[in-house]
Amino acid sequence: MSKDLLHIQLTTPERTVYKADVKELSLPTSMGEITVLPNHIPLIAALAQGEIRVREAVGEKIFACSGGFIEIKPDGTVMILADNAERAEEIDEARAETARQRAEALMKEKITDQVEYVAISTKLERELARLRVVRKHRNRRTNIPRPQTS
Ligand code: ATP
Repeated sequence: MSKDLLHIQLTTPERTVYKADVKELSLPTSMGEITVLPNHIPLIAALAQGEIRVREAVGEKIFACSGGFIEIKPDGTVMILADNAERAEEIDEARAETARQRAEALMKEKITDQVEYVAISTKLERELARLRVVRKHRNRRTNIPRPQTS
């Protein structure tokens, strides 16, 4: 394994979302966003909800994620075990928007059960992360300059 690259695996309970050797990784943890470069110190941290960015040899990949764990091993392997994760291109914006509205409406109702309240606010944050990622990705695509045609 090259020491100049990070060996990343992003996994959810359902599937392996992404596996590649990359140059740099940024992701949200319970301590704030961290950026990981090759030869990073070993670390275990809690994954928060938000955006994972991966810098590949050419280009970048973006994912929305919710909670979980990240482990950085001494050999540069990075295991990201996420409760949920989707590539920006996979996110169904209309579905996330509907789910966000449903969660917000539920939160406005009189919820007496604390467990239910926590579950709904977690769901809301998950949908907000999806929406931020898919909208940012869409704006980036529409801002790509058109090639000159003369
Ligand atoms: P919804 O709230 O949309 O009715 P859900 O509550 O089942 O769905 P989650 O529990 O957050 O949603 O996720 C369940 C699965 O569906 C996961 O595999 C997740 O990656 C996928 N998923 C959920 N929302 C979206 C979305 N907007 N676009 C793409 N995949 C999604």
